Amino acid sequence: MQDTNIETRLHPADAELSRRIVVLEEHLLEKEKTVEALQDSEKRYRRLFESAKDGILILDAETGRVVDVNPFLMQLLGYSYHAVIGKYIWEIGVFKDIAASKEAFKVLQDNEYIRYEDLPLEAFDKRPIAVEFVSNVCLVDHRKVIQCNIRDITARNRAEAEHKRLIAAVEQVEDAIVMTDAKGIIQFVNSAFERTTGYSREEAVGQNPRILKSGQQDELFYSNLWDTISGGRTWAGRMVSKRKDGTLYTEESMVSPVRDASGQIVNYVSVKRDITEKLRLAAQSQQARKMEAVGLLAGGVAHDYNNMLGVILGYTELAMKKVEAAQPLYADLRHIFNAAKRSADITRELLAFARKETIAPVALDLNRSVESIVEMLRRLIREDIDLEWLPTVGPCPIMMDPIQVEQILMNLCLNARDAIPGVGQITIETGSAIFDEAYCADHAGFVPGKYALLAVSDSGDGMDKDTLGHIFDPFFTTKELGQGTGLGLSMVYGIVSQNNGFINVYSEQGKGTTFNIYLPSCSDKGVQSRMEKTAEIPSSCGETVLVVEDELSLLMIAKMMLEKMGYRVLIAGTPSEAIGLAEKHATEIQLLITDVVMPGMNGRDLAERLHSLYPNLKTLFASGYTANVIGHRGVLDEGVSFIQKPFSMKDLAVKVREALRDK
Ligand code: ADP
Ligand code: MG
Repeated sequence: MQDTNIETRLHPADAELSRRIVVLEEHLLEKEKTVEALQDSEKRYRRLFESAKDGILILDAETGRVVDVNPFLMQLLGYSYHAVIGKYIWEIGVFKDIAASKEAFKVLQDNEYIRYEDLPLEAFDKRPIAVEFVSNVCLVDHRKVIQCNIRDITARNRAEAEHKRLIAAVEQVEDAIVMTDAKGIIQFVNSAFERTTGYSREEAVGQNPRILKSGQQDELFYSNLWDTISGGRTWAGRMVSKRKDGTLYTEESMVSPVRDASGQIVNYVSVKRDITEKLRLAAQSQQARKMEAVGLLAGGVAHDYNNMLGVILGYTELAMKKVEAAQPLYADLRHIFNAAKRSADITRELLAFARKETIAPVALDLNRSVESIVEMLRRLIREDIDLEWLPTVGPCPIMMDPIQVEQILMNLCLNARDAIPGVGQITIETGSAIFDEAYCADHAGFVPGKYALLAVSDSGDGMDKDTLGHIFDPFFTTKELGQGTGLGLSMVYGIVSQNNGFINVYSEQGKGTTFNIYLPSCSDKGVQSRMEKTAEIPSSCGETVLVVEDELSLLMIAKMMLEKMGYRVLIAGTPSEAIGLAEKHATEIQLLITDVVMPGMNGRDLAERLHSLYPNLKTLFASGYTANVIGHRGVLDEGVSFIQKPFSMKDLAVKVREALRDK
């Protein structure tokens, strides 16, 4: 009410003035508010600038001086505010890559927008940092500035490098790696997977691992695997899988679930190793070990049998000489003799398998050796089987006992003959082969070097896998009772290993068989052909012979045989007895015949001992096997005489003459 009064009391001009004042006041108020608002907004932007987690640098676009810099950038680069503000950008070491000079700065000036994805910078303290750099030119308060946004990507780069390394590792490992989603659909496979399975990455991704299913495991196997991994546990085991080309392989695999942060299974990863080759090599060396063990056993038994058979043969032979050939007793003795001889042959084969047979290797040409017995082999096999002989050109020098070449060929040809039901073909070939380190790493028991190859192939029935796995076992035969002893290939195996060779057999049912035998090559100097056997029993010139043998019955037989031939015989049951006798009859004894394995002192040491006393004394060793005493693995030194037990009178006569004549 009062106000109204005043107003009404005012002069109209005054009223106009006061109205203007009010407007002015309102205007001022308005302006104040705008300024305030502006300040507010500036503060807000300032806060953004100051708290940004990217570095921001403001440059004067005209001069290149630093106008402003945010704390993050200072912290990142390790520079203080004052070290930067007002400086020319090219003065600040850290930016040398962006604006090394005024010239370089022009690039920033002239381009509204510049982006460097990955710039290697160095902080004040020389610490390397990688940044992403973006600059843009803009107008602020009528002033042209360049705003530079600098983002630290060191951590990102490190993570990327780690990722790359991880991928490289996954790609380069020998194990196949497969990653599936939670449903089991393949999402990733590495290169090893592609190599082992034959499926490319493109072919595998999106598929179920079932593509590798071989049918060798039953459903239970797979459901057990799935239950294990979907239950959150790792499955580990061996399985047979199928490659794209249909071939099977054995793998050792480990399948594990992969969980996300919340514990949910999101992937399965499996790491698989192809162990087919490893298993094959293990089987090979197991086979070799088995043969070694069986050989040891067979060798031991055969040795004892050999001595006994020697007694039987010897006495029978002597008894036959006391009986008229027309008498019935003579025929009986003949039967005993033949049976014992046959038994001796079997034990001999066993000894050959056990590599206990003593051999006298000579340098020979494999081609000539085969050549010399091809006709005999032709007679051995049936007429409706064609025997083809394909020698390689040039000589095939090996170090071997010629008898062993015969034994190998006879056994292989007889087996081939037995495997051919009607008309067929046997091929004998020679060749050469060089095995390098790589080949030998893949083939257990093979030793690098140069080899002569002796191959015997037939067009016969072939063998199944099961048979193939046993052919070298002694007494393994598929032939009817009385048809085969199962010792033929055992003997071949023994002979070949004794000569440091190898055998590879290829056979398929209905497709024939090939035996490839590799024998170490030697230089072709001094190759000689086999010595002819002496036909007649040579008689003595009355020499004195000292026989040393711990098996009394064998000693007696040897004595009787030698006396029958006309020698003077001294006998000793032990080496020490022999030394005593030798001292007494020093000058008379011309030949020492000694067993090799004896208790107390072995034959070789005895021979050396006596030889040092009487240098003209000749020595003939006799043994069922040598137990590595005479020479390495039963291989005789050149010039050493040896007779295999059991021996016939003729064998002994020949060997004694040879020993006395030689050397
Ligand atoms: P044997 O001939 O007395 O049976 P071997 O040791 O010589 O004994 O051979 C063992 C077995 O190996 C034979 O019984 C036969 O089953 C098999 N065998 C050997 N050679 C051949 C071949 N060339 N073809 C088919 N099978 C073979
Ligand atoms: Mg045979």
